[in-house]
Amino acid sequence: MRFVFVLCVLVIAVAVVPLQAKEASAEHGVVVLQYHHIGDDTPRVTSVTAAELEAHFEYLKEHDYRVVSLAQADEIVQSGEVPDKLVAITFDDGWRNIYANGVELFKRYRYPFTIFVNPKLMAETPRLYMTWAQLQELEQYGASIANHSNSHEHMTWRRENESEAEWLARQEHDILAAQEALEQGMGSKQPRHFAYPYGEYNPALANLLEEHEFLAFGQHSGAWGKYSLRTQVPRFPASAQYANLKTLATKIASLALPVDKVTPENMVLSKASDSLTVSFEVKHTDDYRPTQMNCFYQGEQLQPQWHNVTARLTLTDIPIGRSRVNCTVPSLSQSGRFYWYSVPLVRPNEQGRWPD
Ligand SMILES: [Zn+2]
Repeated sequence: MRFVFVLCVLVIAVAVVPLQAKEASAEHGVVVLQYHHIGDDTPRVTSVTAAELEAHFEYLKEHDYRVVSLAQADEIVQSGEVPDKLVAITFDDGWRNIYANGVELFKRYRYPFTIFVNPKLMAETPRLYMTWAQLQELEQYGASIANHSNSHEHMTWRRENESEAEWLARQEHDILAAQEALEQGMGSKQPRHFAYPYGEYNPALANLLEEHEFLAFGQHSGAWGKYSLRTQVPRFPASAQYANLKTLATKIASLALPVDKVTPENMVLSKASDSLTVSFEVKHTDDYRPTQMNCFYQGEQLQPQWHNVTARLTLTDIPIGRSRVNCTVPSLSQSGRFYWYSVPLVRPNEQGRWPD
């Protein structure tokens, strides 16, 4: 009897040990924060006040986050070994108030950060945007200046009677002219980093940017991990209602969901698609339970249907314009932290357009 008992214990021990040895490990990513205006007299929906930004900067310092430039982040992500607690800071559009209200903070914290600018708009309405001299000054305090297109249009929109090839050539010119102008304005080569205006892109644009060796950022949320596509890097909006540190802290601590094979492949839907099935394949499943994944769309909470490692969600009442599905699932190895993944969508109206 005792022998059988000992044998049983041994068998159980042998069975359990490999499981313990292969402990679930979290999939770290770089959390990229996205800002626009710094001020209290600018559209609230795209603004942080200087006090809010200071609170964010202080939070990162107090909680031992390492703020890296996008170039450093890119190198780290490409190495495949992403350490925990990496954050990058970005500002879109190059508004003048970034200098006016931010320069003291940039000087004090000396974090690396990126400003995505539109050189054509800077030339056309200089009173709204920082000057090249101001951008050069900010460069000394950690700024990199990058490409947000030349003219900040909805890049996927085709003009009337414009062929696909003509449209693509126009976009190529817009991107490359912006890069040339910003390098001329800065007097130096700048990293080939691009932020899509309004976070809108399609496969042809993504391919174009890849061809020209740009790393391209969207406006869908999630941590940037080794499975993120280089032409669709996620960022977390950190302005307005997202500026609240209670909710922002969860995003800053988020983990990169290792996702692949996403459908729809094109975020720009057809006019007719008022409902849609979104699906994506999740690569590893050892640090979370698929059944604990929750997705949110237009204020509704949805549970994905799982087919092996593929999550499927059926969306209905897709509005005209941009919308996003956000999915989160708790990490098993790191309590209080979540994997985060977001799918951006845009549905055109009858004229193939949508609001800003
Ligand atoms: Zn913009």
